[in-house]
Amino acid sequence: MFHDRLQQLADRSLLRQLRPLGSATGPTVELSGRTVILLSSNDYLGLATHPEVIQAAIQATERYGTGAGASRLVCGTLPPHEELEAALAAFKRTPAALTFGSGYLANVGVIPTLIGKDGLILADRLSHASLIDGCRLSGADFRVYRHRDLDHLESILKRRAAGRPTLIVTDGLFSMDGDLAPLPELAALAARFEAMLYVDDAHGTGVMGPSGRGTLEHFDVEGQIPFHMGTLGKALGSSGAYIAGSADLIRYLINTCKPFIFTTAPPPGAAAAATAALAVIQKDPARRARLWANRDRLYTGLRRIGFRLTETVSPILPVLVGEADKALAFAEQLLAQGVYAPAIRPPTVPDATSRIRVTVTSEHTAEQLDAALTAFAHAGTAAGLR
Ligand SMILES: *Cc1c(COP(=O)(O)O)cnc(C)c1O
Repeated sequence: MFHDRLQQLADRSLLRQLRPLGSATGPTVELSGRTVILLSSNDYLGLATHPEVIQAAIQATERYGTGAGASRLVCGTLPPHEELEAALAAFKRTPAALTFGSGYLANVGVIPTLIGKDGLILADRLSHASLIDGCRLSGADFRVYRHRDLDHLESILKRRAAGRPTLIVTDGLFSMDGDLAPLPELAALAARFEAMLYVDDAHGTGVMGPSGRGTLEHFDVEGQIPFHMGTLGKALGSSGAYIAGSADLIRYLINTCKPFIFTTAPPPGAAAAATAALAVIQKDPARRARLWANRDRLYTGLRRIGFRLTETVSPILPVLVGEADKALAFAEQLLAQGVYAPAIRPPTVPDATSRIRVTVTSEHTAEQLDAALTAFAHAGTAAGLR
C-alpha cells in the first residue's frame, strides 16, 4: 500500500529523499564524497559552527547533562533555559519570553491557547505549515487572505460578526518567498478591529532590522505588537523556539500550552548555544553586514543570468521554475555542477510555483558565490530555463 502511494508521489515528481552529509551544514558540505556549495541552509550567520556557540553547548552539557529529564513543570527548570529566556526578552525588548522545543511545536501549541471554537482566524495564504496546523487545531473558524493583501483582509474583518474573538496570523519574513508581511498596516488593522496579531519571525530574527532583532525592528513596530514568536534553529544556529511577550502571557502559556506542559524541555546544551548565539549577534554586527553583502551579490548575479525570482527583499532568493518535474531536473543539474539547493515543490509551495529556494549566509566567500553563479548559468541552460 505504501509502495503504491510512494509511486503516485514519484509519478508527480513530488517524491522527497534524504541526502546524507559527511560534514556540518556550512557554506560547503560533503555530499557523496564530493564537496559542494550549500545554498539552502537557514543558518544565515553561520552560528551553528561558531566556536563560542559550540563551547557554550559543551559547557552546559557537561554541567547539566544531555537531556532535561522531563517537562520543566515536572522536574524543575534548569539555568540554561532561564538564562536564554532572559536574553531573548532583553533582545526582543519584551518583559518576558518562553522557550519551546521547536517552532512547529510553538505554533501548534500557542495558537490554540489564544483562540478557540468561538473565534475567527485570518491567516496569510503563504503562512508556514506549522501556523496553518495551529490554526486548524484551535477549532476556530479559519480563513486565509490573499498573500500580503490588506484590502482582502480588511474586507473579511468588516463582515465579521461584532465582538467575535479574532486572530490575524502571518509570517514576518515569508519562508518560501523571502518577502515581508506589511506589519505596520497589519498592526493598525488589528488595533482597529480589536483583533490579536500573531507574527512568526522565524526567518527575521538575527537577519532583519538594524540590530538584527527581526522584522518588528525592521518596521519599527516593536512597541505596537505586544508579543510574537520566533525560532532558535535558523539564524541562531541552535534548535527550539520562543514566544516573546508580557509576563502575564508567559505565565498563561506555562499554564495552558500543551506543547510546553506535555513535552520534555529542550536539551540544556541547545538552550545555552542559543544564548551564546544571541551574544554573538549583538557584539559582532559585521556578520550581518557580510550576510547582506553576500545576499546582494547573489541576488544581482541571479537576476543578471536571467532567472525569475520572487519579490524577495531578504537572504532567501527563490528562483521560480514552475512545474515540479522541471524544478527537480534543475536541482539535479545544479548538484551536478557542484551546488546543493533542492527543489521546493507542493505542498510546501502552491501548485505550479515550484522553485529552487536559494539561501545565502554570512560565511560564503565571494569565490564560492561566483562559482555558484557559474553553476546556475550552466544548469539553467541545461534545464531550458534561460
Ligand atoms: C522553520 C519555520 C518554523 C518551524 O520552526 P522549527 O523550529 O524548525 O520547527 C516555523 N515557522 C516558520 C515561518 C519557519 O520558517
